[in-house]
Amino acid sequence: MDLRFSPEDEQYRLKLRSWLEDNLPEDAPPSEQDAEFAYRRAWQRRLYEGGWVGINWPKAYGGQGATLIQQAIYAQEMTRAKAPQPANGLGISIVGPTLMHHGTEAQKKRYIPKILSGEEIWCQGFSEPNSGSDLASLQTKAVLDGDDFVVNGQKIWTSLGQYADWCILLVRTDPNAPKHRGISYLLVDMHSPGITVRPLKQITGNSEFNETFFDNVRVPKQNLVGELNDGWRIAMTTLTYERGISSLATQVRIKQQLDAMIDYARTTPKNGHTLAQEPVLRQQLARAYIGVEIMLLNLYRGITNRLRGKPAGPEASLDKLYWSELDKWMQELGMELQGPYSQLMEGSKYAVEGDWQYNFLRSRAGTIYSGTSEIQKNIIGERVLGLPKG
Ligand SMILES: Cc1cc2nc3c(=O)[nH]c(=O)nc-3n(C[C@H](O)[C@H](O)[C@H](O)COP(=O)(O)OP(=O)(O)OC[C@H]3O[C@@H](n4cnc5c(N)ncnc54)[C@H](O)[C@@H]3O)c2cc1C
Repeated sequence: MDLRFSPEDEQYRLKLRSWLEDNLPEDAPPSEQDAEFAYRRAWQRRLYEGGWVGINWPKAYGGQGATLIQQAIYAQEMTRAKAPQPANGLGISIVGPTLMHHGTEAQKKRYIPKILSGEEIWCQGFSEPNSGSDLASLQTKAVLDGDDFVVNGQKIWTSLGQYADWCILLVRTDPNAPKHRGISYLLVDMHSPGITVRPLKQITGNSEFNETFFDNVRVPKQNLVGELNDGWRIAMTTLTYERGISSLATQVRIKQQLDAMIDYARTTPKNGHTLAQEPVLRQQLARAYIGVEIMLLNLYRGITNRLRGKPAGPEASLDKLYWSELDKWMQELGMELQGPYSQLMEGSKYAVEGDWQYNFLRSRAGTIYSGTSEIQKNIIGERVLGLPKG
């Protein structure tokens, strides 16, 4: 494995870095959620105008056709610059690429252009109250009535549902077929009559996701993606894109947080010396450092395999399991370093460090979305190690 970047790739990095220097928003993101979303939407518009959004998309669809290495550089530079996330994250990462593969020409023309510009925001209606890990057991149903499907049921965990204009929705269209075969994939206008979106408050105080109810919602037949009852295959394409290259950005973020923890330990007095001189905390910081470096090497190994033409495959579960559990453990370490001050949220009078509390409360989410830690372990056991099914 060659861990160096080529001169052309370094050139690409410099070009992006200099664009970021000229274009990053000067004002900090607002803390109120709706205002923050509007801020990210404006940022996406700026990225779009500069040609820096959806860089992995083919040029024909407004992307750069960026190589895997360029995508890795992009993820690292955006995180290093602490750039905001574009507002239409799901549209860019999963909806556009799925439509490029499976959409009709009319669907591609209608929906794809407004994804990168952020004119239309997308959400993902897959999970239901009783169907998460076992997604194929979903019960939201759609029945054909003339030229429309009529949709009834409930989704949950719908990220961005409260802002979304459109939704990729999995519905059961044949209740008698085996569970993976009776599912269809629809594009649903979130402004349709009969849709109710109820934000759910998380422990962080934000409402990142929602419950979404469908009560006799009419969806035109031409909004079916692929064939009737073939939605599972299309959903698998969507889920493959969900597990993309973004883990590199996560690695840079975790590394920045670790650097802040090390600084804090070096400068914070405790019992006549600094936290960094406490034997147990020193060891934990060293363990965290090793963990973050291993994460980077694992990710580089994955990229190298893909450059050699191997598909992402079940080994991707190692990365997901590793970074999400590492992140959770490291955020707990941050709380331990702050001791009693860890109980104070950012903005409280005596709070000592920025967003550590938020990161701690948010970190469990990483071990749940895109397949929980237990599901990743099942995949590693069965498909990487070849162990019998549990
Ligand atoms: C921040 C966040 C954003 C999300 N955004 C979206 C979104 O936009 N759209 C969307 O559709 N979904 C979204 N999800 C939902 C996510 O995909 C599900 O939470 C996830 O698939 C797990 O499903 P569940 O919550 O129903 O848990 P369950 O599947 O009910 O699992 C409950 C527990 O049982 C364990 N478990 C389940 N099955 C097994 C098994 N076979 N072996 C061992 N243990 C098992 C799980 O690991 C877990 O600990 C989001 C989730 C989060 C946390």
